Amino acid sequence: MSGLYIHIPFCKQACSYCDFYFLTRQQLREPFVDSLVREIENSRGEGYTEEPVKTVYIGGGTPSLLTENQLSRIFDALRHVFDIQAEEVTMELNPDDVTIDYLRQLRNLGINRASMGVQSFHPEILQFMHRAHTREEAMRALDALQKTGFSTYTADLIYGNPGQTQEMLRRDIRQLLEYNPPHISAYSLTVEPNTRLGKQVDLGRISPPDDEEVSVHFDIVTEELGKAGLRQYEISNFAIPGKEAVHNSNYWRHENYIGFGPSAHSFHWDGHGAVRWKNKPDLKAYLEMDFSGIREDHEVLDLHSLAEERLMLGLRTVWGVNLERLKSRYGYELNSSQTEWIEIQSGAGNLVLNKYTLTLTKQGFRIADLLTVDLLSRN
Ligand code: SF4
Repeated sequence: MSGLYIHIPFCKQACSYCDFYFLTRQQLREPFVDSLVREIENSRGEGYTEEPVKTVYIGGGTPSLLTENQLSRIFDALRHVFDIQAEEVTMELNPDDVTIDYLRQLRNLGINRASMGVQSFHPEILQFMHRAHTREEAMRALDALQKTGFSTYTADLIYGNPGQTQEMLRRDIRQLLEYNPPHISAYSLTVEPNTRLGKQVDLGRISPPDDEEVSVHFDIVTEELGKAGLRQYEISNFAIPGKEAVHNSNYWRHENYIGFGPSAHSFHWDGHGAVRWKNKPDLKAYLEMDFSGIREDHEVLDLHSLAEERLMLGLRTVWGVNLERLKSRYGYELNSSQTEWIEIQSGAGNLVLNKYTLTLTKQGFRIADLLTVDLLSRN
């Protein structure tokens, strides 16, 4: 076993771009924790609970809306059922919830990595995103992380926002780097259909920047973070060496993980292949579940599609994909058209095949999606 994921489905307000599962009504937090504990306890006896747990990730939603007591109940249940030997225990935090006292409580619970949703320091961009925090709160929260000895943490940035100039992005990066974060995740704004942003774009009220401008933003991010010693180890993730996120890296490698909470996904290799299942994104139904029945939504994964997914995810990382492993684990072999294509792309400086390991170059990273689609379409 590699990881446990816990989904906390509450947020103070809906960010305009977000399509994760969450509710803004807070009254159900306590019953939710009761159900979550029940779900965890009921997984006792499942084969996967025998495997040692290497990482725990508390995400959402906004996990920092939970009290110390609620989190403590969740960790008690996890320790009760699983053999937790976690090297990395991450919790997502929103800056407006963070105080020095709260961070100390988290450390006492065994949380050793924080993921801070900063996104931007510009008030007008935070407002456009409909974030609940202010620039000052983001700065105070980062300061508090340093004061409480969180030496491992990540901060999120979003670039490619409407109205965000290149200089504004540079200022966001400079501001964040003042706190010497060991890890930064930087994402380009994505317009999802069922979000407030998606609707505004549909109605023509907002125009996102064009691909060329977003690509310049991407270059600014990689250049500035690279200069600061943060290596781009995945297209959207940058870390000083040794501070890469273990939990997320394991997703990209198709390691096992079990998710708890509404909308949480699980992925597990059993004797025959890989299986995925997902909890319904429905808190009301979740509160009424007794978690004792057999899950109905098990999907046995077809190895060929899984191999393609592995290629796609692996090529987004500096570790690339081992083609021998692709053959032994998934039975996937490159055909002659793909091999030929690899030679052409190596010649063009987009990728490198080193013995069995295929990796994209810095130049290839810029067009990673295009390259992967092209490679997969040849099979
Ligand atoms: S706080 Fe996070 S999960 Fe909640 S709405 Fe905003 S982006 Fe989505």
